[in-house]
Amino acid sequence: MTTVSPEWQRWVEAAKTLAADPTAQVICPRNGDSYLQVTDTTAADGTVERHLRCPVCHATNIIRNPTGRASA
Ligand SMILES: [Zn+2]
Repeated sequence: MTTVSPEWQRWVEAAKTLAADPTAQVICPRNGDSYLQVTDTTAADGTVERHLRCPVCHATNIIRNPTGRASA
């Protein structure tokens, strides 16, 4: 049996929101204390990584290939 934490579910929702609108303001999934800072980077193999970071509590998450698009 797998249990998904409520915090993880909020990270998933944040990722979905940002996939639809990369400029969306997403509240910190961990503590709700600020809006996430979003930075996209491209790895050597062309995979996009989206770094989500809370500037207040420093919660972070990295989403690989956040848009699901193949690299151009
Ligand atoms: Zn936070």
